[in-house]
Amino acid sequence: MNSTGNDDIFLFAEENEEACLTSIDEYGWHILIVDDDKEIHTVTQLALSGVRILGKPLLFGHAYSGKDSVEYLKSHNDVAIVLMDVVMENDNAGLDAVKQIRDELHRDDTRIILRTGQPGYAPEEQVVQEYDINDYKTKTELTRNKLVTTLISALRSYKQICQIKQNHFYLEHIILASTSLQQQHQINQFAKLVIEHFCLLTQILPDGLLAIKNTLAEKTPIIVMGGSQKYQQYENQALELIDNDRIIRQVSLCINQKQNIISEQDTTLFINNQKYQAALYINATPNLAELGSYIEIYLANISIALDNITLIKELKITAFTDKLTGLQNRAGFIKSLNKFIEQPSLGDTVVLVDICHFSEVNHGLSQEIGNQLLKACADRLQDEYGESCQIARINADVFGIIGSADKVSPEKIEDTFSFPLLVANQRFPIYVNSGFYQRETTAQTGLQVLKYADIALNQAKQSHAPSFAYFDEAFEQKMAWRLGMVQQLRADFQAGRLQLWLQPQISLDTQKATGCEALLRWKTEQGNMISPDIFIPIAEHSGLINEIGDWVIEEACRHIKQLENRGIHNINISVNVSIAQFRDPTFISKLCNTIDLFNVSPEQFGLEITESILMDNPKVIIESLNTLKQHGINISLDDFGTGFSSLSYLNQLPITTMKVDRSFINEMDTTNGEVIVETILALGQKLNLITIAEGVETQEQINRLTELGCNIIQGYFYAKPMPFDEFQAYLSQQPS
Ligand code: C2E
Ligand code: CA
Ligand code: CA
Repeated sequence: MNSTGNDDIFLFAEENEEACLTSIDEYGWHILIVDDDKEIHTVTQLALSGVRILGKPLLFGHAYSGKDSVEYLKSHNDVAIVLMDVVMENDNAGLDAVKQIRDELHRDDTRIILRTGQPGYAPEEQVVQEYDINDYKTKTELTRNKLVTTLISALRSYKQICQIKQNHFYLEHIILASTSLQQQHQINQFAKLVIEHFCLLTQILPDGLLAIKNTLAEKTPIIVMGGSQKYQQYENQALELIDNDRIIRQVSLCINQKQNIISEQDTTLFINNQKYQAALYINATPNLAELGSYIEIYLANISIALDNITLIKELKITAFTDKLTGLQNRAGFIKSLNKFIEQPSLGDTVVLVDICHFSEVNHGLSQEIGNQLLKACADRLQDEYGESCQIARINADVFGIIGSADKVSPEKIEDTFSFPLLVANQRFPIYVNSGFYQRETTAQTGLQVLKYADIALNQAKQSHAPSFAYFDEAFEQKMAWRLGMVQQLRADFQAGRLQLWLQPQISLDTQKATGCEALLRWKTEQGNMISPDIFIPIAEHSGLINEIGDWVIEEACRHIKQLENRGIHNINISVNVSIAQFRDPTFISKLCNTIDLFNVSPEQFGLEITESILMDNPKVIIESLNTLKQHGINISLDDFGTGFSSLSYLNQLPITTMKVDRSFINEMDTTNGEVIVETILALGQKLNLITIAEGVETQEQINRLTELGCNIIQGYFYAKPMPFDEFQAYLSQQPS
């Protein structure tokens, strides 16, 4: 064993200024001396007495065997360096201890310097590497000067390792914190997590809150998002409401000055975000310097997570809000209706209000005006009902209101729209249909309430004038019945159970058939005949009429062809068409194609259109009819006189035939009825149209119609509608 010389002390003092840094009064570096020779302990301690390395003094621990050293380390986790003797209780005691320290105690940060008394004895290089041994010195080599130099470099690497470990801890923690923050969708939970993470990171007790201010909206207050236990009562409230003036002051200061406010008492960190500014208030003074730039990374991560959570909040708002009017949308309304079901205090009435003819404004004037009209409508409702009721826009032009019966009534709704809306400096009178639902009825869910109110609304729409209806259980039964009918009709249509019957039309001149009207018949699987008056509206409502209508046209063409094949060229067949068919933009070309495809002469084919088809969109319909006329197809105006308005269009219409409605023929025995028929026929003659009287059942009617100059008769008097085979037989029995 060698002692150290005095010269070394001086040399050391001059060469190693780092070792001389003094005055930082903290804990020192913990050095464990392991040697079975007590003297070595004393000498080493003596040699190093008063030395400070990297600003800290050295503190010594002592162990006298390999085993001892392991025990010592088990109970001390801050040992920076172990000065380990190699040969102690046995030749390998030192190395065995090192193995245990690394492999079993997993002390990877502690630096190890091996010392041996026997020169020439060196552990294998492999062991040095495997056990991360810093240095190997013979005790004679370790003069004071060399010992200090060795310790400095070992402590440097110890410090680095600790720093890396600490950084690793911060990074890992920040990543974990960010992930869990990103997953948190509840604002108060989010705030609580932020506080918890921050306090874990800085190793203090969680005590603080997160406050936020929307910087895009002016004059919004700072709101407490949430925080540790004692601030949870202030969640979602204005900061001012907190019973702590200091917090209010520090947080406001932080957000207004956009910077961290650090005092001796507390820490308020600023979180910047494009939309929001937030302050993280911590009722403590953690050592932020230790965190270095990690604190910035951490705050930036909170900012990103904040974006997410506020986005989610906004998404939630937009998911239930109508962008155009700011009212609830359909989803929002259903949510409110669910509450309405649960809480009778929310009122007893729900109404859906549908603006009549809105689509005409939208198409006719512009979508912009349409939008303004809807907004004006929403404002009007808001003014009238906003305070006591809930209002929503359910779809394009349907609004919903939830409230009490005295506020939400047909009279009130009528009042609301009794004066025009002002849109783009114009006055728009508004008419509405409304469907009411009242609590007594049996809806179980919000969606059901909506459905029932909608059924009532549809009921109200049935009448021609704007009106209202209350939901009635019978409506629903009717709806269910209709639904069943639609399904059966669809199935039976596909199974070929629809038939096209023909009713002869007889010329009063020749007493012979000039043509026929094709009329649909539905024979169900059970053999019941269902009247077209019942199933046509259902087919129209369900959209099935388009498919059925195509089939009717094909079937009529087939029959014309069959007649032609038998040499009959002078019988034309007229088919009825519905509005829905005309609304299909491909209808006209499809019809012309079918006629061409069956190679029938178009003069044999006729269409019966009603005034309601014409009035649906007169300009477009007249255009379409012209196309058909050019194609050579006959057009009759059906049910003439039962509609409102076609007189003004009559001379523009490319029609060949006018049919006097059965109801007028039926009334012919009254004076009034006779005058109407007379007028209609006179009009038809003036316009050079062929006139057909429909529903003629008696000889008296025939006589009078002959006198009035009617051309053709269709009615039970001559023949009822019949299947095609019978119709052929009928034709062959005609007088020649
Ligand atoms: P519509 O076009 O007015 O057809 C004339 C209706 O009067 C037919 O009723 C016919 O059977 C009935 N009728 C004819 N002569 C007399 C008579 O002397 N006395 C009485 N009481 N009635 C007579 P139907 O066949 O029940 O058809 C009812 C309605 O169904 C038709 O009225 C038409 O609007 C519609 N319809 C029938 N077939 C079709 C079709 O293929 N397509 C479309 N879209 N509608 C159709
Ligand atoms: Ca008809
Ligand atoms: Ca008719």
